[in-house]
Amino acid sequence: MLHSLIVGFGLAGMAYAEHLQRNGDSYRVIYQAGGGSSLQAAGIFNPTILKRYTMAWKGLSFYEEAVHFYDEQAKRLGNTYLQPYPILKVFAQTADHNLWLSAAGTSGLEKFLDPKIYQDPILPVHTPAGYGKVLHMGRLDISGLQKHLIQEHAEAFYTENFDFDALQILDSGVEYKGIRARNLVFCQGFQMHQNPLFDLEPLRGCKGEFLIVEAPKWPENYILKSNIFVVPLGNHRFWVGATFDWKDKTLKPTPEGRKWLEDRLQRLLKASYTVVDHQAQIRPTVKDRRPLLVQHPQYSHIYALNGLGTRGVLMAPYLSRILLESINQNTPLDPAFTLQRFNENELC
Ligand SMILES: Cc1cc2nc3c(=O)[nH]c(=O)nc-3n(C[C@H](O)[C@H](O)[C@H](O)COP(=O)(O)OP(=O)(O)OC[C@H]3O[C@@H](n4cnc5c(N)ncnc54)[C@H](O)[C@@H]3O)c2cc1C
Repeated sequence: MLHSLIVGFGLAGMAYAEHLQRNGDSYRVIYQAGGGSSLQAAGIFNPTILKRYTMAWKGLSFYEEAVHFYDEQAKRLGNTYLQPYPILKVFAQTADHNLWLSAAGTSGLEKFLDPKIYQDPILPVHTPAGYGKVLHMGRLDISGLQKHLIQEHAEAFYTENFDFDALQILDSGVEYKGIRARNLVFCQGFQMHQNPLFDLEPLRGCKGEFLIVEAPKWPENYILKSNIFVVPLGNHRFWVGATFDWKDKTLKPTPEGRKWLEDRLQRLLKASYTVVDHQAQIRPTVKDRRPLLVQHPQYSHIYALNGLGTRGVLMAPYLSRILLESINQNTPLDPAFTLQRFNENELC
């Protein structure tokens, strides 16, 4: 019998499978090729909140574990998918300078925020109020990594829509189309709402629209951040995003979304560009913006790993490790990550 059957192979499924492999535990993965939000994400690797100049919840712990995790993975694969980039935070107003300098002196952030205000022009970016540098950041090439991991163990992957009618829940595990596994772990992102076994009410989902643009004259050696991110993808292509919409749960890009993005882009960059793609995805975001690890209330060997709507690159290694430890050591999950943190009234 296998250790785990995994449904979904975005950042959550990829990180959980990696930990299984390191542990010598066997697995199979059912996933829809090209599906989910990880493949559309910018892949920015950043524990800081650059809107408020603070550290994200548990940001440093997630960051340290993720650096080590991707480093180890790169050694095994013989290729690194985490490219280092500084982030240049373009200030909207000079009033930001004091906030930046004071944040740069605080414990945790001092490693990341360069305590200097840069005023020198960087072409072709509009920086009338200057900019700051965020160090030790990067971008994960998520689709490149996913492709490599699938090729590495092609026999472990089945490309199909998981058929719940074909699932048999046994006392000792599960059986699915002849695959027997002791544990079943759903890593479905926002599609978790179509899962009849779980009701993850706090998983709200937040739609994000983004553009892929071609711009031969834009710099490719850093990530730009104003009220949007501009992220180099190589070959003069850039990811530009994203919008946040908590109401619309469709995957349809909208004219309003495009206008919102282009208005901000034109205010930030002077040189010309061509939009080559405009897409939308739903971030699997929980109402308190924190991740979710859920053990099924009735079937103790069925789990969900979810809520990676923001900073999925950073959180997935840590969360999937503690999930696997809890399964293997038969210990309870940390309530900070479970549904226990929402009181019962809220869940009704
Ligand atoms: C526009 C946008 C930008 C983002 N930018 C960043 C960023 O810069 N940095 C960052 O860290 N995070 C970012 N994120 C967030 C983050 O990357 C993702 O939301 C996160 O990766 C979610 O990962 P996941 O594995 O939980 O879900 P997903 O990536 O959605 O993966 C779900 C998987 O489950 C599969 N699946 C679902 N249901 C079924 C089924 N019934 N049968 C078979 N397969 C199924 C899908 O095919 C897919 O493989 C961004 C998100 C968006 C939308």
